[in-house]
Amino acid sequence: MKKWALIVDIARCTNCQNCVLATQDEHVGNEHPGYSAPMPDEGAPWITVEKRTRGNGSMVDVAYVPKTCNQCDNAPCVRAAGDGAIYQRRDGIVIIDPVKSRGRRDLVDSCPYGAINWNEQAGVPQKWSFDAHLLDAGWSAPRCVQACPTGAMQSELMAEGDLKRLQDELRLETLEPIGPAVPRLLYRNMRRATHWFLGGTIVRVSQHGGVENIPGAGVELLLDGEHAASCLSGPFGDFKFDDLRPQPVRWEVRVRHTEYGEALREGMLNASLYLGELPLS
Ligand code: SF4
Ligand code: SF4
Repeated sequence: MKKWALIVDIARCTNCQNCVLATQDEHVGNEHPGYSAPMPDEGAPWITVEKRTRGNGSMVDVAYVPKTCNQCDNAPCVRAAGDGAIYQRRDGIVIIDPVKSRGRRDLVDSCPYGAINWNEQAGVPQKWSFDAHLLDAGWSAPRCVQACPTGAMQSELMAEGDLKRLQDELRLETLEPIGPAVPRLLYRNMRRATHWFLGGTIVRVSQHGGVENIPGAGVELLLDGEHAASCLSGPFGDFKFDDLRPQPVRWEVRVRHTEYGEALREGMLNASLYLGELPLS
C-alpha cells in the first residue's frame, strides 16, 4: 500500500508564500463535503512559513521552514478524537471529519504540533487536509505543491520501504518527534534551520595599519578539546564550520599561515556565531 508524504527542501524555500496562498485559494469559502468545511477568511492559515535566522555581524543566514499538519502515523489527534471525528486514511492522509467533529473544540489541543485551528464560524476544528478531495478526483499533487515555484515542496505517494530509502539517501528529517506521533512531513536540509555554525574572517594588519583579508590560511576547530573539523580560509579570508550540533560546547579555533603567522580564539558556543576578524601575528 502506498502512502502520501510531503517533502520540503529548506534550502529551496524562499518564503514566497505561494503555498500558503494556494491553500487559502482552494479552501477559503469553499466547502469540500466529507473532507473539510470552508476555511475562514480570517484566522491562522493552514500552512505557515517560519523564519529562522542564524549568526551575527556580516555572517547571517535565514532559513524558511514551511509548517502544516504532519499527517502523522500514530497521530495523537486521532486517538483523542476516539470516535472517528479524526481518522487516518489508508493512504496516510489524516482527515478531520467536518460533520463528526462539530463542536469538538477540545481537539485543537490534541495536536502537539499546534496544527489544528478552531473555525469559529463553522464550529469545527480544522487543519490542512493534504487537499485529499483533489487527489481523490485524480490530481497528482495538492495545490501548495503545484504552486511552489522553486520545487521546495513535493508530495510523494510511495511504499513505506521506498520512503525509508529516500529518507536515508536525502537525510530527510521530521520535526522533533513528540510522543508516539510519526510525522509524514519530511524536511531536507533541515540542519540549515536547526544546527549552528561558527565562522570568522582571517586578516593581517600591515605595517602601515591597513587590514588585508587572508585566503588560504589553515583553520582548525576543536570542540571540548577534540579536533572537530578543519578548512582553508576562502578568497576573502572567510571560514565557516557549519552543521554543528545545537548544544553548548567549549570551542577553540586555531589558525596558521606559513607566511603571516598564527591566531587563536576560544570560548563557549551557545548559538551560531561569527567571530569577526581574526588577525594573524
Ligand atoms: S500534525 Fe497534529 S493534526 Fe496533524 S496528524 Fe499530527 S497530531 Fe494530527
Ligand atoms: S511555495 Fe515553495 S518556496 Fe514558496 S514559501 Fe511555499 S515552500 Fe517555500
